[in-house]
Amino acid sequence: MVDENGRRIANNLILNTALHDFYAAADEMHLDEGLIQILSYPERRVDVSVPVTLDDGSVKVFQGFRVQHSTALGPSKGGIRYAMDVSGQECEGLAMLMTWKCSLAGIPYGGGKGGICCDPTHMSRNEKERMSRTYGARIAPIIGRWSDVPAPDMYTGGQEMVWIMDTICKMLGHFEPAMLTGKPIDYWGAPGRVEATGRGLAACAFEFMRIKGFDPAKMTAAVQGFGNVGSYAAKILSEAGVKIVAISDTTGAYYNPNGINIAKAFEYMNTEPGKRGRKLTGFEKEGCEKIPGDEIIGVKCDIFCPCAAQGVLNQDTADKLKAKYVFEGANSPTTPEAEDILNDKGVILVPDFLANAGGVIGSYFEWAQNLQGFTWTEEEYNNRLVKLMKDNFCKVWDFAEAKKVTMRRSAYMAAIKRVSDIVELRGVYL
Ligand code: GLU
Repeated sequence: MVDENGRRIANNLILNTALHDFYAAADEMHLDEGLIQILSYPERRVDVSVPVTLDDGSVKVFQGFRVQHSTALGPSKGGIRYAMDVSGQECEGLAMLMTWKCSLAGIPYGGGKGGICCDPTHMSRNEKERMSRTYGARIAPIIGRWSDVPAPDMYTGGQEMVWIMDTICKMLGHFEPAMLTGKPIDYWGAPGRVEATGRGLAACAFEFMRIKGFDPAKMTAAVQGFGNVGSYAAKILSEAGVKIVAISDTTGAYYNPNGINIAKAFEYMNTEPGKRGRKLTGFEKEGCEKIPGDEIIGVKCDIFCPCAAQGVLNQDTADKLKAKYVFEGANSPTTPEAEDILNDKGVILVPDFLANAGGVIGSYFEWAQNLQGFTWTEEEYNNRLVKLMKDNFCKVWDFAEAKKVTMRRSAYMAAIKRVSDIVELRGVYL
């Protein structure tokens, strides 16, 4: 659907937010309307059905998607998520965000995203394997190291990447490790990739503190989500002295104004994996107060890191936020309405596609190593990652200060510029 000006209107929160932010920045840049039109649509969207024989013998058909928003700068890059709200439009919005993320990061990729609409928390390992393999086979025609390079996202990790890659390699008849990233270390993965998104987020926060002259040991933070992004962000921040006063996952939020021992939370989650999996249930026994999950937004602290789901900072919750600084670990955690409320309150928001770019930057390093057939040390990987994150943070910060715009607007303008310049250079017939 389009409005009277030919601008797209979607009925999905993530796509609408992505379009809203893109149009606003593009208009401020006076971007040519033709370029705006091109960049508001994905280049390609593939919808696949994914039939799976469940463990009880019945067959269920899941809906899967893979979207390539832009390949202007290089192969499209982005994760694959398994969640109930996955839809074609959600993937379109997330793929668009990946275009800006890769552009801003200065890495040679366009943006993509994929996923399957399913509830992975209620599926057995065998069911997930069959689903991943069938999905992999059905998107195989558009996947490749020089065309579209998937990676993990919500509820997927190294295991799902192995199933998908193994299936596509069997179809090809040869190894092709650079076709996707986020692989386990011993299966063409890169040491450092698992921690990369959290490390990148922490690097942004440290750079911010350095610029502002804040001492990390005097700062407090609350981290929403204790998965791959939030857990490592909390760990790295706390190792530098930041007091983590609250963490949360789908089981609730765990609060201690004197600081949570993050190393203990890691240990806790990794014990008895069969029983608890990677969940924090019962962690209140370790000296925390358990509060409802959403209440983590209202916890008194300096820095809030939403590292769980989209849309958590919205018009109903934005007013509750006490933190002055937000580092977005999740993709699209803030709605445009919430952004206005928070801007009015003087909150500094470090946008998702800057703050959580450590994951895809780490993926780029993995892909580069796969293409070279040569493994870097973890130290080299981490050093390059942190340097790139800090440089990118400063670039966005300086532009925002100079032009008196928000960090999100500044990040958008830099990201759109790089992509639109190349679209103009290459011409419309990409
Ligand atoms: N899923 C991650 C993201 O949203 C990583 C993507 C990638 O490494 O390609 O940034």
